[in-house]
Amino acid sequence: AKALGRGRHEDYNPVLQQMVRERRHLAADLRRAVDAGELFLVYQPIVHLASQRVHKAEVLLRWKHPQRGLISPAEFIPVAEETGLILPIGQWVLEQSVRDLAVLRAALGDTFQVSVNKSPRQFLNDARLAVPREKAALGELAGSSLCVEITESMLMEASPAVKDKFMQLRDMGVQVSLDDFGTGYSSLAYLKMFDIDYIKIDRSFVKNLAPGSSDQVLCEAMIVMAHRLGVKVIAEGVEEAQQLAVLAEAGCDYIQGFHFCPPVVLAELVDWVRRHHG
Ligand code: C2E
Ligand code: CA
Ligand code: CA
Ligand code: CA
Repeated sequence: AKALGRGRHEDYNPVLQQMVRERRHLAADLRRAVDAGELFLVYQPIVHLASQRVHKAEVLLRWKHPQRGLISPAEFIPVAEETGLILPIGQWVLEQSVRDLAVLRAALGDTFQVSVNKSPRQFLNDARLAVPREKAALGELAGSSLCVEITESMLMEASPAVKDKFMQLRDMGVQVSLDDFGTGYSSLAYLKMFDIDYIKIDRSFVKNLAPGSSDQVLCEAMIVMAHRLGVKVIAEGVEEAQQLAVLAEAGCDYIQGFHFCPPVVLAELVDWVRRHHG
């Protein structure tokens, strides 16, 4: 009776109905966009603070819609997850970023690494594959060419399949970042359970970061703890010099954010890193 009640509520709620229609429309549109080649990648440099060198960039997906213009992944990734389209899209992202990595390495040195986001459905689906998709995409390249960014919701169930997938990535030498760190219920527990290379301190801790703020205390604590466990720290969403100063003082390893560079297309990334390296 409860389920029926909820269904009725949706049927007669015009706002919800409109949302459902829009989602359906977006899903159909996204299916078309994949074939039409409307998806493309941008890259955001991840700056190593101590050396000021850049050997790493996060890969971020973009959709250039013929009528609507740029659509944010925050809008279409959830739809891609729901419809399963995330699987072919994710595979394309992986393959395209490995192709782009060849360009980056030729221009910027052969230790350059790309960091690719993986949504829960992608990770869980992959967990059932005997041979990781990453292995196929990387071809001759070493596993360490790739970092995979996952959120803790993926580790939550800690099923044998998830642990297995994790071990397979590890065995290949692929690195793993725990994204949006500090926003979940038990972020700390996962650091103990999984052999993670990096945590990415979520932007919500960085946004109002100032000397003497409670966010300063939290960032410092996360950094100390991560380091004691042998985990490196990336702060994301760093926009201002003051945030950077607090993070540097706290011993943060890597900085990502508009303060240095927004996500840009491949050629611009190469230019930016060259200028930055001087
Ligand atoms: P995320 O993984 O947390 O990515 C960081 C987001 O912060 C990106 O948003 C980036 O453009 C934005 N950002 C970077 N620096 C700053 C800054 O200084 N200030 C502010 N305000 N924002 C900053 P974007 O590109 O819109 O991506 C949103 C989310 O979509 C990502 O969050 C990620 O969860 C998802 N996403 C993006 N690309 C992919 C993909 O290829 N696969 C999957 N599965 N998810 C993706
Ligand atoms: Ca990410
Ligand atoms: Ca993040
Ligand atoms: Ca985030």
